[in-house]
Amino acid sequence: MKLWKEGDRSRAVCERCKRLVGTRFERRTVKLERPAVAVPDVLVAVCTSCGETVAIPAQSSPRLQAARRREAIRFEVRIPLELDDALRLIARQFAARHEAFEGSLIRYYLSKVGEDEETARRIKELAGSPLAGGRNTGRISLRIEKSTWDAAWTIARKVGIKRKSEVIRGIVIAAALDSGVATEAGRKPSLEFKKALRTIALATSAV
Ligand SMILES: [Zn+2]
Repeated sequence: MKLWKEGDRSRAVCERCKRLVGTRFERRTVKLERPAVAVPDVLVAVCTSCGETVAIPAQSSPRLQAARRREAIRFEVRIPLELDDALRLIARQFAARHEAFEGSLIRYYLSKVGEDEETARRIKELAGSPLAGGRNTGRISLRIEKSTWDAAWTIARKVGIKRKSEVIRGIVIAAALDSGVATEAGRKPSLEFKKALRTIALATSAV
């Protein structure tokens, strides 16, 4: 693949000018329709007659793909306030900032649910534990990449999870056990997840 740089010149057909034109490579902000995002600094070939973007070289596609993958969905689930307490305790346990930490924590567990049925089954089982059974007086809202959610939801359905809130409740209980802020007879924390929680806390504790 030829790597182009700003200022390079080439030729291409311009749809506006309806002819073969000279082009110049520039960095421009490209607007995507789905998701509706503006991707800055994309190298494009610009018609030297009319200024229209006429081509996007192959080297720019990873930048555009990354933006497409970042399509995010907003997510709101009602949970018992006790689970909100648990999330705050977990954040304190790792000296993390609660707001930044809880979203990352849930996204991490969701990505694991999307990767492996064993984790999904654990989450399903924990969602049914007494700790998760309080009245839904609290709520949690987060943004998550659509692809992460779709993968998690596919596996969650496969293991018999019926509601989105079940996934989130199960995850909070799992994180409470893994971090050590909660104990439940017969339930073991996961060392792997505990390590991950510590890493997430570090990654989200920037001031
Ligand atoms: Zn043109």
